[in-house]
Amino acid sequence: MNRRGILIVVSGFAGSGKGTIMNELLKQYDNYALSISATTRKPRGQEVNGKEYFFKTTEEFEKMIAQGELIEYANYVGNYYGTPKAYVEEQLNSGKDVILEIEIQGALKVKEKFPDTLLLFVTPPSAAILKERLVGRGTETMDVVEQRMRRAAEEAEGLASYDYILINDDLQTCVLQMHNIIQSEHYRTSRNREFMCQIKDELNGNVKGE
Ligand code: 5GP
Repeated sequence: MNRRGILIVVSGFAGSGKGTIMNELLKQYDNYALSISATTRKPRGQEVNGKEYFFKTTEEFEKMIAQGELIEYANYVGNYYGTPKAYVEEQLNSGKDVILEIEIQGALKVKEKFPDTLLLFVTPPSAAILKERLVGRGTETMDVVEQRMRRAAEEAEGLASYDYILINDDLQTCVLQMHNIIQSEHYRTSRNREFMCQIKDELNGNVKGE
């Protein structure tokens, strides 16, 4: 069967551990490509331009919007974030499952544009653990931690728009669950219309040829 790449959106509260899950998924399996977003947020800790993000000025980002270079973009806690189109298209065409690690406004825009996008949401087991992880990360001021907790409460309102929810309690279990969900998606009838037509034609031909 000819496998086309699936477009997957992974969202999760800041501090849900989705970044670590993505790293593990890419390390353990070779059929995934992770899209690198553009953002106007400043690099954090060891982040490198072109690896975690393409870091842009507001003017540069607005130029990308104007030139139609982004699949979607959103404003998150005062900064722009967006998904460059070219890489995603190239990887999907080559048969890779492409993952966008983006927040909910972007997720819903992508789903509207490409209805067969698979939407996954990663959450820690509780709000207390989420806060603990955000504070423990030590890269944000308490002000930003509070902003992100408020944002998480807003995002929780949209959970039902996602296809699957993954509770990140144990990292390896979560990575395996994500991989299994994505692989199962390939067998959905709606993703295999071409094969279904082909086998129907073959069977009809067989009946006529009898
Ligand atoms: P952070 O600043 O913690 O790296 O990311 C903040 C939020 O922006 C996260 O929820 C992340 O998933 C989201 N994000 C990252 N890239 C994009 C993007 O290209 N588009 C949208 N809509 N959200 C993004």
